Amino acid sequence: MKKMMLFIIIFNLNNFASFCEFDLLNANNITSYDINEEINQLVENYPDFIESEVLLDSVMGKEIKVIRISNHIETFNKNSSYDSNKKNTFYIAGLHAREVVAPVSFLEIIRNTLKKANEGDNETLEMLSHNVIHFIPLVNPDGFDLSKFGKSHEIFGENFNRDLKANNNGVDINNNFPDSFFDSYNNKWTSIKESAIKQSLHISKKPSVAFYWGTELQPETKNIIDYMDRYYFEFFTDIHSQGNYIFWDSWFLSDQYRNENFRLAKTIQTISSKNDDSEVYRMEDYQSKIAPHGYGYSTAYYASNFHNPTVTIETSTCRNMPYFSAEQYLDIIERFNDIFIELDKFESIIYPYRVYRNNQIYGDYNNENTAIAMAKKIDGVYKYEEGEIKEIKFNFFRIIIKFYYKFILELKH
Ligand SMILES: [Zn+2]
Repeated sequence: MKKMMLFIIIFNLNNFASFCEFDLLNANNITSYDINEEINQLVENYPDFIESEVLLDSVMGKEIKVIRISNHIETFNKNSSYDSNKKNTFYIAGLHAREVVAPVSFLEIIRNTLKKANEGDNETLEMLSHNVIHFIPLVNPDGFDLSKFGKSHEIFGENFNRDLKANNNGVDINNNFPDSFFDSYNNKWTSIKESAIKQSLHISKKPSVAFYWGTELQPETKNIIDYMDRYYFEFFTDIHSQGNYIFWDSWFLSDQYRNENFRLAKTIQTISSKNDDSEVYRMEDYQSKIAPHGYGYSTAYYASNFHNPTVTIETSTCRNMPYFSAEQYLDIIERFNDIFIELDKFESIIYPYRVYRNNQIYGDYNNENTAIAMAKKIDGVYKYEEGEIKEIKFNFFRIIIKFYYKFILELKH
């Protein structure tokens, strides 16, 4: 009998350990290696619902992974989302070095979601039956580790931990994206960055802890760009950790498009509101008030290329980054635990000017000039496809929303 008891205890401990739950009381000790270990454990424990793929290594040669979550994930076509009939959405976290809270918290949320699915929770299974969630939990592992454990660094010197946003080359990934957008009124590609340089807003001219845009595309940036190119995403969300805000505006796009961004941001604001009277995330449009502020951002890149909704969520307030408290981790988990279920209800407009590359949808645009310019840029084909939309991808609800918006916008004119 005693032997039996011992066996059960050891078995349970092993079982628990295999879930590899983060110890949030000691969250300051979590490394980028632990993040990848956690991903491996999730894939091992829930192979029906999650798979991972190794992307380009970081500058220091650390592994960067993307995870995909859905039901029957093994049937997902890795080369194309075109024929999946599921809604594909893309999230990233951990782009800025010192904002270490989001990768851990969102992996906890992913684990909770997988656990529920595994236990047969109807709502979760229903959501996973028509969604593929794509997530790069830790974009910048070098920065993550340097910010937490770095003592001295060739570029950053000493005592840089609290200020570090960049990667190991001193490039701020969020300023490293190609910054041009197509100005459909003047019919030309236009730089956002140029006006920022003129006004010297948030700019470093050399490698630094933050705001240096770099002369070359960094592997960490390329991972995101390549992944955006690969599938047709309903929306893109970049999760940061510096203030309880949602940045929603892409000032350089049309009102119709900006309304869509706003609608996504509002939905996320509602999701992030807890039942008690704790702070509600603020909606911020400073990218339109100070236009150059938006240069090079991941969301500006996504918006200018794909014209689908995109927001940046700033998930926490911490005056002592990168040292977040256990409560701050838990606050995010609590606020966003249902984010995937809630965002399942969000459907973005389908625009009629559609660009294809290699027979796969690249993006939908609300005007012909942009679609033509985009097709030229990516060596793709442009087609006007309003009449065919139903057959291509989508459900009745989306068509209704599309015409609803069209009608409202026509009334406004
Ligand atoms: Zn940030």
